[in-house]
Amino acid sequence: MHIGGFVSSAGGLDKAIVRATENNFDSAMFFIGSPQTFKMPTLTDEDVSSYQQKLKGSNISSTYAHALYLANLATPDNKLFYSSVSALTKTMQNGEAIKLNGVIFHLGSHKGTSSKEGLDRVIKGIKKILDTSPGNTKLLLENAVGQGDKVGVTFKELGYVLDAFTNEPRVGVCIDTCHAFAMGYDFSNQSLFEKMLEEINSHIGFDRLDCFHLNDSQGELNSHIDRHANILEGHIGKEGFERILSEPHFASKPFILEVPGVDGNGPAAKDRQTVLDLL
Ligand SMILES: [Zn+2]
Repeated sequence: MHIGGFVSSAGGLDKAIVRATENNFDSAMFFIGSPQTFKMPTLTDEDVSSYQQKLKGSNISSTYAHALYLANLATPDNKLFYSSVSALTKTMQNGEAIKLNGVIFHLGSHKGTSSKEGLDRVIKGIKKILDTSPGNTKLLLENAVGQGDKVGVTFKELGYVLDAFTNEPRVGVCIDTCHAFAMGYDFSNQSLFEKMLEEINSHIGFDRLDCFHLNDSQGELNSHIDRHANILEGHIGKEGFERILSEPHFASKPFILEVPGVDGNGPAAKDRQTVLDLL
């Protein structure tokens, strides 16, 4: 089982690896640059080599970047669309420079047009990004909670995007358990859990599911509230997490904690232990 954490990259990307290692994580996710600006940094050779050096001496087997929060590929606003394409492209190019497994992003909002139009713009954006960021780093769609006009909120919607990339293995999915639960996917009951597995399999495919964001949910089932809670401190419940963590189709996928942390400093060793205690 792989348990990772969303760690700070303040002070350099190599520091993210140090922080993940200090907390016994074997997967790491971090920001490359500020998530609140479209201007992405260009990594220097020194950034890359100090990162690689730290990674080489660590137990970390998979690495991810979380894309900037401002990105919105679903938007009808051309300026925002192209700023998002260029920032995500830069993130993918940086990701390739440090051999990330994937860059995880939220699809965005259709801004009063329609989900289908929004998803079609996402497809157009992904094509542009991949055309200008060759390599092996994946671009991973994260499911959203479904507030307002967000797209990519159901596995079916994510599947609609994936269907445009049947010959492009670099497009995959990251399932956030908090977002799925707040969207109405219930893990507390075996038959509903199995129904969800069927949906994941038919719309996404277990091979396209790359990793999880493992979070409890402050909001209740179907609340459409995007607020992460520490594991077992929200509404998903012990049985729900036990089902997720013991599901054979998920066994090889990294579970990345994006929780506030029991000490309030983000996911740490204690939060990882809470997950291990459920096994
Ligand atoms: Zn997430």
